[in-house]
Formats: sequence, structure tokens, C-alpha cells
Amino acid sequence: MANLKGRTAAVTGSTSGIGLAIARAMAKAGANIVINGMGNIADIEKERSAIETDFGVKCVYSPADMTKPVEIAEFVALGEKTFGSVDILVNNAGIQFVSPVEEFPIEKWDAIIAINLSAAFHAIRAAVPGMKKRQWGRIINTASAHSLVASPFKSAYVSAKHGIAGLTKTVALEVATSKITCNCISPGYVWTPLVERQIPETMKARNLTKEQVINDVLLDAQPTKEFVTADQVASLALYLCGDDAAQITGANLSIDGGWTAE
Ligand code: NAD
Repeated sequence: MANLKGRTAAVTGSTSGIGLAIARAMAKAGANIVINGMGNIADIEKERSAIETDFGVKCVYSPADMTKPVEIAEFVALGEKTFGSVDILVNNAGIQFVSPVEEFPIEKWDAIIAINLSAAFHAIRAAVPGMKKRQWGRIINTASAHSLVASPFKSAYVSAKHGIAGLTKTVALEVATSKITCNCISPGYVWTPLVERQIPETMKARNLTKEQVINDVLLDAQPTKEFVTADQVASLALYLCGDDAAQITGANLSIDGGWTAE
């Protein structure tokens, strides 16, 4: 397992689901953590203090809204000011909306592109100078199987995720000689609040029952017929932080039960 003692990991969208699992995995490996995301402030404080007490590291919370470039820069600055550096940046915040393209609400399109794609650009832009100065860094973007293939009714999400795969490759080339790697992880369906919330929308868009959405739409895509777990995604993210992964860069790593093999 990567030893992250003395490193700082800043994880966007880490108050829930995959991001929280990644933040906890990196804390377990010894990193100080910047968590970020929306939600009930008392619940967030519980998650923040649990990271400190469970793993003996320091953890601060940034309330930065990933639709706001200035706040995204402040998220990176908070890590640098509190801990002296942001060595690992995980761009994970994301939202979903499911609707036929001709009815897709314009404000949902704008929000998905901002949070799932542009936020990663703004955070990378803010974090790379410090990483270059220190000649070490890990940038990990949570993409999706939808960075490789499409599904109907997810025009904004699929566009943003294809975009983040391209951003990953471009940044990887730019920072390649600075001992900074940039990769994306592409999970299939992971049982998190994001997936749970899209079930009613998919029921409506496809005129299906809840069971039909789970078995015939979600798990139908995955040959293993099992959900990926958030901890499995977190283990892969942690692996990318180690010395063994120093030559993995610009990659789009699938963890999708075989979905994109078909
Ligand atoms: P989730 O809903 O559990 O977590 C999303 C996180 O993003 C939360 O912490 C939320 O507060 C945060 N967030 C949302 N809007 C924000 C904003 N404006 N500013 C700051 N934070 C914001 O979802 P999840 O399933 O854990 O998703 C995490 C990432 O994984 C997303 O990028 C998602 O697209 C990706 N992903 C999820 C799945 C899946 O099946 N769950 C599959 C592939 C990829």
C-alpha cells in the first residue's frame, strides 16, 4: 500500500459516496486531507472528525462550490495554507441528471458541465504550480464508464465524462517530466446516493419500475451483475499514489465489471 505520510490529499465531492471512500483510504495511508462537498454541516463535521480520530491525521473541510472557479482555487489554497502543499488532487465531485435531450433543462446541462468537467480544470490549474515546484504530484479524476461509452438520456453527463478523459490525457502530457501523473478512473455503477437518486428519473424517462431500472438498466450494463463498491474505487486511487504507479499516466482505468469490454 502507498505510504502517504507527509502528503496532503485534496478530494472534491468527498462528503459522500466514492469521494468519502477515497478520502478515508488516503487518510488511512497517512495523508492529511482536505474534504469538500455539499450536505448537512453537522454530518460533514462528523465525517471530518472521524477521519482525524480513525487515522490520526489532520483533516480540514472546504465548503467550495464546484460551480465557482474562485472557490475552487480557494479549495486548493486552503490545503496549501493549512498543510504546506497539495500533493494529491482528486477531482471527484459530480452530479447526474437523466432526461431526453430535447427536454434536458439548460440549467442542468450547465451545472453538470461545470461540476463534472470545468471544476477539474480549475482545480488542476490551481494545484499544478505547487506540484511542479515540489516535483511530485498525483492528479486523479473520477471519470466513468460514460467517459468511454454512452447511454441514452445522459447527454450532459456523457459529454462531461468524455471531456474529463481528454483533459486527463492533455494534462498528463504537460506535466510528464515533473514527476506528476494524471489519470482517470472509470467506474461502472457504484451503489452511492448519486445512483440511488437517478432511479426515479430513469423510471420516468424509460417508463419502468424501480426493480426494472436496477436489474434491466443499471446491472444489465455490467457483465458481473454486481455493483462496484466505493472502497474498490478508493483502492485503485490509492494505488495510483504509490511509487509502483509512477509510470502510469494519461490512463483511463476501467473498474466496471466488464461493462466497456462489450
Ligand atoms: P455522491 O452523490 O455520493 O457524491 C457526490 C459528491 O459531490 C458529494 O460529496 C456532493 O456533495 C459533491 N458535490 C455535488 N455538487 C457539488 C458542488 N457544486 N460543489 C462541491 N461538491 C459537490 O456521488 P458518487 O456516486 O460518489 O459520485 C462521485 C463521482 O463518481 C462523480 O464524479 C460521479 O460522476 C462518479 N461516478 C459515479 C458512479 C456511480 O455509479 N456512483 C459511476 C461512475 C462515476
